[in-house]
Amino acid sequence: MPQQPLAQVPKDATWQWQDHGACREVDESLFFHPPNERGLARIRRDRAAKAVCARCPVRIECADYSIRSREPYGVWGGLTEEDRERIYARIAIADYPRARGEGADMCSDDIADAVSPGALGIA
Ligand code: SF4
Repeated sequence: MPQQPLAQVPKDATWQWQDHGACREVDESLFFHPPNERGLARIRRDRAAKAVCARCPVRIECADYSIRSREPYGVWGGLTEEDRERIYARIAIADYPRARGEGADMCSDDIADAVSPGALGIA
């Protein structure tokens, strides 16, 4: 059974990277699904958000933060809620990355795959 996310802001969290996010130029509703969104609508919105993340200069910092904080909602660093749930389910709480950069290191393949041509629907 997948572990439930235990959202927690890391003690060493920084926020300056957010000033450089590509999403600052985009409606933030692109990154958070409305209630009951399903199927193609969700796939299309997630892909559009991922495409913004794919060109973002702070994508790795963003993905690292979302993984370390076990962020339950939204697209962060190209990782959707489902992408992160797979990470949460795979890594035991005792081994979970908490220090800055550890999430990016431990989940580098997930972070790369999150904006791959296949994930963006252009493969
Ligand atoms: S990676 Fe995506 S969600 Fe994170 S700051 Fe960049 S555009 Fe925003």
